[in-house]
Amino acid sequence: MKTAVYPGSFDPVTKGHIDVIERSLKLFDRIVVAVGDNPGKKPLFSTKERLEMLKESTKHLKSLEIDSFSGLLLDYVKSKKANVIVRGLRAVSDFEFEFQRALMNRVVNEDIETVFIMTKEHYVYLNSSIVKEIAMFGGNLDDFVPKFVEEKLREKFSKK
Ligand code: ADP
Repeated sequence: MKTAVYPGSFDPVTKGHIDVIERSLKLFDRIVVAVGDNPGKKPLFSTKERLEMLKESTKHLKSLEIDSFSGLLLDYVKSKKANVIVRGLRAVSDFEFEFQRALMNRVVNEDIETVFIMTKEHYVYLNSSIVKEIAMFGGNLDDFVPKFVEEKLREKFSKK
């Protein structure tokens, strides 16, 4: 049984993230999508809201667990009996940061590998910050986030 952990902020989940999850499921028996509970990041959505959006957006997928974690990712990965971390790669701009993280993680634990999944070209420039910006100005989000997430974004910005 090969389990991989896909960690991230998912603030909120986008169609780019879902594309990475679907591709990862072709490679592994089980994927644990792990929402990082990092208060230092000041997310727009609470951990509970991010988990809810992920659950709703991946209802069509099997062999998936949606969870949250705090503390060291490597400890969390071990606790899930996984030895692979999945990360998505977009443009070259992701590379340096991801490269650094993957190598540092390997220094700490040789047994855990990081695997990078390339997204569909259509999502190469998509990230959660752009989505929030478009939502703030009332732009069209059909191409970028599932309907449920779009509604949550609208609610969030209508309250502000
Ligand atoms: P983090 O704050 O850890 O970067 P994100 O939620 O922004 O968390 O992203 C989680 C992972 O998903 C990262 O590996 C990121 O590169 C990847 N990712 C995000 N958006 C996309 C996308 N559009 N295509 C491919 N990978 C993506």
